[in-house]
Amino acid sequence: MRKRRHHMGLLSPFYPSAMVSSAYDIPYEELYKKGFRGLIFDIDNTLVLHGEPWDQASRLLFERLRRIGFHALVLSNNKEERVRPFAEGVGCAYLCKAGKPKRSGYLEALKRMGTTAENTLTIGDQLFTDIWGANRAGIRSLLVKPLGPEKELQIILKRIPEKLVLFCYRKRRGSNYRKHSDKETGIRHYDQQRS
Ligand SMILES: [Mg+2]
Repeated sequence: MRKRRHHMGLLSPFYPSAMVSSAYDIPYEELYKKGFRGLIFDIDNTLVLHGEPWDQASRLLFERLRRIGFHALVLSNNKEERVRPFAEGVGCAYLCKAGKPKRSGYLEALKRMGTTAENTLTIGDQLFTDIWGANRAGIRSLLVKPLGPEKELQIILKRIPEKLVLFCYRKRRGSNYRKHSDKETGIRHYDQQRS
């Protein structure tokens, strides 16, 4: 496995490969052409609002991903009762109680999908679980804007240091980073206003 670059500073373990507005606004066809084959998704506030069941949009997204040829898996720290109905609804593999940001869930996800750290992408809304865990496992990641407000206090509290990290991330990338695409994924950065 290729070692990740460490020139981005102290906060780099929390930096995503790129920021996008939404999991529904990612050029998946282009990512497939670039060689990506596996997608690891967070559920809550990434694919649907926190605690909400699957819906037409999420179902259509996974249909599209299957048509393209992607292997996809939802990786959640939530319980089986939450994760399984969602995964079955959209027709996707799943791992629950994943213990993100631990590496183990991500490595298990790669094993299940039969993909590698290099050709897989993680998509999630939280820096200290989704993105940090992906970085620890050597997997590239896309940070999405949370779909809605958080309901759990511990997540609400994490949003404060997240803002600080994102501020440093933007600064590190330079004032012109929005004009550039991420080198590895080819995805254009989206300057999100996280509120
Ligand atoms: Mg989430």
